[in-house]
Amino acid sequence: MIELSRLPAEGLRTEGRATLLPLERGEALRDAEWSLRVLPSNSDFYLEVLGKAVWEGNCSRCLEPFELALRLESRFLGSKDPDLVVRGSHTLGSQDLDVVFFPEPFLDEDALVREQFQLQIPMHAVCKETCQGLCPQCGKNWNKGPCTCRPESQKAPSALAKALSGLKLNLEP
Ligand SMILES: [Zn+2]
Ligand SMILES: [Zn+2]
Repeated sequence: MIELSRLPAEGLRTEGRATLLPLERGEALRDAEWSLRVLPSNSDFYLEVLGKAVWEGNCSRCLEPFELALRLESRFLGSKDPDLVVRGSHTLGSQDLDVVFFPEPFLDEDALVREQFQLQIPMHAVCKETCQGLCPQCGKNWNKGPCTCRPESQKAPSALAKALSGLKLNLEP
């Protein structure tokens, strides 16, 4: 925890590392390393988080576990001024910085670092761009080869196919 109200004028620099930072849904960050700089700027705080880690997650298409190297380079302004937060950005020196709401007098370094790493994870991370995903019928991983489902059933049924299946149903007693 960093006490923001007692920050020295020249700011604070910390470094950290973690072999494993568990995330939600069984995901984790491995071999995480970071450095954090907090610099007071009037009543706000300039924050810089630099780091790297390996994300252990699952492919959003085939659901297989895979890893992704993450690089973190984040600079923003922490402020408890709601007006500034609403404006969304603030120019400090030559930098245009995003403004993040920081109402608390303390800064939880671990939580901040974890959150900043999480922002680097793509929304729909895939193990490879050409990932074939899973068969919607039998659930087989198409990266490991085709399944025995008929190709027709993998497409949306045509109007004719729908009509035929309706016909078949009508024939049943
Ligand atoms: Zn995949
Ligand atoms: Zn299949």
